[in-house]
Amino acid sequence: EQATEDIRRSMDSMEEKSAQLHIANREAMESNRLKSQFLANISHEVRTPLNAILGYTKTLQKDIEDTQHRLYIDTIEQSTNSLLAIIGDILDFSKIEAGKLSLENNHFNLKALIDDVYQILSINLLTKEKQIDLVPEFSSDTPEWFVGDSTRVRQILTNLIGNAIKFTHQGAVRTKVSLLSSHQQDVTLSFQIIDTGIGIPEQKIHRLFKPFSQVDTSTTRQFGGTGLGLVITKKLVEQMHGKIEVSSAPDIGSTFRFTINLKNSNKNAQSKVPLDF
Ligand code: ADP
Repeated sequence: EQATEDIRRSMDSMEEKSAQLHIANREAMESNRLKSQFLANISHEVRTPLNAILGYTKTLQKDIEDTQHRLYIDTIEQSTNSLLAIIGDILDFSKIEAGKLSLENNHFNLKALIDDVYQILSINLLTKEKQIDLVPEFSSDTPEWFVGDSTRVRQILTNLIGNAIKFTHQGAVRTKVSLLSSHQQDVTLSFQIIDTGIGIPEQKIHRLFKPFSQVDTSTTRQFGGTGLGLVITKKLVEQMHGKIEVSSAPDIGSTFRFTINLKNSNKNAQSKVPLDF
């Protein structure tokens, strides 16, 4: 009799605990949703004045002759761009958390896009006086025109190539692009971004794609960054039905490999038609 009563009591208490847990879980989810919403709102609000600062800075830049003043105004421009990049990362991260990151479709030339990313990032080499060879390699069987979200493809490449340049003192940063498979309109591309930089210790590799993780917190101040770049990159790659992985050796360098699915653009065919006809 007593034993049955004990079992009943402990079952009641288990049920009560499970109900409490359920409520706590719902509250945690709701507070997570509010946090994502708050981050998204704040990022949005901060972007508007930053864009105004950037716009007027560019207007002022045109009329400045004094070299010292030019330096000041260029620094304002660079800092505003850095802030916009951070805000952009936070906004993307909150969209990912809320499951609201969606892709667009447009026609684009991948080779031109990669050349452009290299061109823009090579400015960092000049300002930081680094000697790194930047080598994009496009295998000859890879088509040039695709349909996909070119802004997000650009973001993936900018993050990975930007990191490769950031963490490399000398040597080279290569990007190898090749065709992995193609089936009717669907194309799978493979990318490798290979650097000869500081590398990542093996025990820290698993943390790379987790939010806010920077391998060495003492390098945070040295190199800057939010620790969100790779999280966003991984999510974007997965949205494009791909995978990302990394292999690295300290003081030798790192290789980030990823695949993405894109659609073949009919501009491939068009570009083979002679222009005169
Ligand atoms: P952050 O914006 O802070 O650089 P990321 O998510 O892009 O954030 O990268 C997280 C961390 O991973 C970096 O702070 C760095 O410690 C490490 N990391 C990323 N790419 C490389 C690389 N190519 N070489 C060495 N370390 C890297």
